[in-house]
Amino acid sequence: MKEGADPDTVNTLRTMIFHKGVTKDALKTRLTRAQLLSRRQQGVHRGTMVYNLLLRVVPGPDGKDSYCCMLCPASDRAEYKNPEDSLRHFHKDHFGMSFDCDYWWVTLVLLAS
Ligand SMILES: [Zn+2]
Repeated sequence: MKEGADPDTVNTLRTMIFHKGVTKDALKTRLTRAQLLSRRQQGVHRGTMVYNLLLRVVPGPDGKDSYCCMLCPASDRAEYKNPEDSLRHFHKDHFGMSFDCDYWWVTLVLLAS
Protein backbone atom coordinates (compact mmCIF):
# COMPACT_ATOMS: atom_id res chain seq x y z
CA MET A 1 0.00 0.00 0.00
CA LYS A 2 1.37 3.39 -0.97
CA GLU A 3 2.14 5.84 1.82
CA GLY A 4 -0.48 8.51 2.22
CA ALA A 5 -3.52 6.29 1.71
CA ASP A 6 -6.58 7.28 3.70
CA PRO A 7 -6.41 5.25 6.98
CA ASP A 8 -10.18 4.67 7.14
CA THR A 9 -10.15 3.34 3.58
CA VAL A 10 -7.23 1.03 4.36
CA ASN A 11 -9.18 -0.24 7.36
CA THR A 12 -12.24 -0.84 5.16
CA LEU A 13 -10.05 -2.74 2.72
CA ARG A 14 -8.59 -4.90 5.47
CA THR A 15 -11.74 -5.63 7.45
CA MET A 16 -14.54 -5.57 4.87
CA ILE A 17 -13.10 -6.37 1.45
CA PHE A 18 -10.02 -8.57 1.79
CA HIS A 19 -10.91 -10.16 5.14
CA LYS A 20 -11.08 -13.57 3.42
CA GLY A 21 -8.09 -13.04 1.12
CA VAL A 22 -6.80 -10.72 -1.59
CA THR A 23 -8.67 -11.64 -4.77
CA LYS A 24 -10.25 -9.93 -7.75
CA ASP A 25 -13.57 -11.51 -6.81
CA ALA A 26 -13.42 -9.92 -3.35
CA LEU A 27 -13.27 -6.48 -4.96
CA LYS A 28 -16.36 -7.27 -7.01
CA THR A 29 -18.54 -8.53 -4.16
CA ARG A 30 -21.90 -6.76 -4.05
CA LEU A 31 -22.45 -4.11 -1.38
CA THR A 32 -24.98 -5.06 1.28
CA ARG A 33 -28.36 -3.34 1.42
CA ALA A 34 -27.22 -1.40 4.49
CA GLN A 35 -24.06 -0.24 2.71
CA LEU A 36 -26.06 0.85 -0.35
CA LEU A 37 -28.55 2.72 1.83
CA SER A 38 -25.75 4.42 3.74
CA ARG A 39 -24.12 5.53 0.49
CA ARG A 40 -27.40 6.88 -0.87
CA GLN A 41 -27.88 8.86 2.34
CA GLN A 42 -24.44 10.34 1.68
CA GLY A 43 -25.57 11.30 -1.82
CA VAL A 44 -23.66 8.55 -3.64
CA HIS A 45 -25.96 6.84 -6.12
CA ARG A 46 -23.54 4.90 -8.31
CA GLY A 47 -21.68 1.69 -7.68
CA THR A 48 -23.01 -1.57 -6.32
CA MET A 49 -19.75 -3.44 -5.68
CA VAL A 50 -17.45 -3.15 -2.67
CA TYR A 51 -14.53 -1.59 -4.55
CA ASN A 52 -16.64 1.58 -4.58
CA LEU A 53 -15.89 1.86 -0.84
CA LEU A 54 -12.30 2.67 -1.86
CA LEU A 55 -13.45 5.72 -3.82
CA ARG A 56 -14.59 9.15 -2.73
CA VAL A 57 -16.91 11.27 -4.86
CA VAL A 58 -15.39 14.67 -5.61
CA PRO A 59 -16.39 17.43 -8.03
CA GLY A 60 -14.62 16.87 -11.35
CA PRO A 61 -13.19 19.60 -13.58
CA ASP A 62 -16.38 19.55 -15.68
CA GLY A 63 -18.59 20.00 -12.61
CA LYS A 64 -19.78 16.41 -12.72
CA ASP A 65 -18.94 13.79 -10.11
CA SER A 66 -15.50 12.30 -10.21
CA TYR A 67 -14.35 9.18 -8.32
CA CYS A 68 -11.10 9.57 -6.41
CA CYS A 69 -8.97 6.62 -5.22
CA MET A 70 -8.45 6.88 -1.47
CA LEU A 71 -5.61 4.34 -1.53
CA CYS A 72 -3.37 6.72 -3.50
CA PRO A 73 -1.29 9.35 -1.64
CA ALA A 74 -3.36 12.46 -0.88
CA SER A 75 -1.12 14.60 -3.07
CA ASP A 76 -1.54 12.38 -6.13
CA ARG A 77 -4.89 10.58 -6.12
CA ALA A 78 -6.14 8.94 -9.30
CA GLU A 79 -9.56 10.21 -10.42
CA TYR A 80 -12.09 8.59 -12.72
CA LYS A 81 -15.28 9.81 -14.36
CA ASN A 82 -16.83 6.37 -13.91
CA PRO A 83 -16.28 4.26 -10.79
CA GLU A 84 -15.90 1.07 -12.83
CA ASP A 85 -12.83 2.57 -14.53
CA SER A 86 -11.01 2.47 -11.18
CA LEU A 87 -11.03 -1.34 -11.04
CA ARG A 88 -8.07 -1.67 -13.41
CA HIS A 89 -6.18 0.91 -11.33
CA PHE A 90 -6.78 -1.10 -8.15
CA HIS A 91 -5.63 -4.31 -9.82
CA LYS A 92 -2.55 -2.83 -11.45
CA ASP A 93 -1.34 -0.12 -9.07
CA HIS A 94 -2.38 -1.33 -5.63
CA PHE A 95 -2.81 -5.10 -5.58
CA GLY A 96 -0.45 -6.39 -8.25
CA MET A 97 -3.08 -8.40 -10.10
CA SER A 98 -3.22 -6.67 -13.45
CA PHE A 99 -3.71 -9.86 -15.37
CA ASP A 100 -4.10 -13.57 -14.82
CA CYS A 101 -0.92 -15.40 -15.70
CA ASP A 102 -0.85 -19.17 -16.02
CA TYR A 103 2.77 -19.20 -17.19
CA TRP A 104 4.33 -18.98 -13.74
CA TRP A 105 2.18 -21.89 -12.57
CA VAL A 106 3.20 -24.06 -15.53
CA THR A 107 6.85 -23.16 -14.89
CA LEU A 108 6.48 -24.02 -11.21
CA VAL A 109 4.88 -27.38 -12.00
CA LEU A 110 7.62 -28.22 -14.54
CA LEU A 111 10.38 -27.25 -12.11
CA ALA A 112 8.82 -29.34 -9.38
CA SER A 113 8.50 -32.44 -11.53
ZN1 LIG B 1 -5.11 4.52 -6.18
